[in-house]
Amino acid sequence: MEVAGPDVVPGELAARLLAPLADWLGDWSALLHGALLPVGCALVAVAVCTSIELLVPAERGQGLAGRIRNLAHLVVFQFAGLAGLALWLRLGPALGRHAHAPGPVESIVLVAVNLFTIDFVYYWYHRAQHRFPSLWAIHELHHADTELNATSSFRTFWLELPLQSIVVMSPSLVLFGDQGAGHAFGMLIGSYAFLIFSHCNFRLSLGPLSGLVCGPQVHRIHHSRLPQHRDRNFAQYFPFLDRLFGTWYAPAPGEFPPTGADALASDASLATVFVRPFRIWLSGAGAVAPPARSSGAARRRPSRRS
Ligand SMILES: [Zn+2]
Ligand SMILES: [Zn+2]
Repeated sequence: MEVAGPDVVPGELAARLLAPLADWLGDWSALLHGALLPVGCALVAVAVCTSIELLVPAERGQGLAGRIRNLAHLVVFQFAGLAGLALWLRLGPALGRHAHAPGPVESIVLVAVNLFTIDFVYYWYHRAQHRFPSLWAIHELHHADTELNATSSFRTFWLELPLQSIVVMSPSLVLFGDQGAGHAFGMLIGSYAFLIFSHCNFRLSLGPLSGLVCGPQVHRIHHSRLPQHRDRNFAQYFPFLDRLFGTWYAPAPGEFPPTGADALASDASLATVFVRPFRIWLSGAGAVAPPARSSGAARRRPSRRS
């Protein structure tokens, strides 16, 4: 009687177990490769915007250290974020749903509609981040920046993009499916354009367009430390969502408030911010509260436990 050798069966088993891992790593690698050009474009945009910021800043005296720290987050943001996206594209609602490759005009319309869909979901996700302390633990790092500028949008906790891939992007993936590499490129460029521009340290108002397209002054209000700006202007791309849902704050001419969060220093080390949410959650999540936007003594919300 022939008995299977112990070295054969475990080998096959290991190959079967490792195959999904290898597939995921392959998808992740492809996404990283595909992101090189958009990230390169984003870095060029950051360089151009930084030059303008240095010439005509909304807030003077910003140093280089904060910008370098934010760019370090960009690396983490891309690696961790695209790992999560690769996993979600393989397991999530876009699985097996491939649409036709759209033409140029259709592509532009599709990118705009897709950006709106994402911003609609992001609006509510973002409100929840400000409402619930356990979610604020993830978002706090982004708000801690006291020197808002073209690099600030990259300053996010490493789990932020994987989480957004699931929560914010799923409706978009269900509605639009996989529209191909061109569409993905357009989405990345469109997202980066909004993200970089809206955080710029420009003394720039978009005038009558302020309530339609998110600019530096409108988003600076969202990052403000002042109590009158608390929980305002949540939309990242289209502020008419704030008008629609009652969270809109129209900036006055020349209104460029100071930014930052109370409980986390702007220059906290990368090691600190990489683990801070876990320390908060393990200590009972109620230990952290959304920012007390007062110019004087910190005003705390009642602690919540989740
Ligand atoms: Zn926020
Ligand atoms: Zn922001």
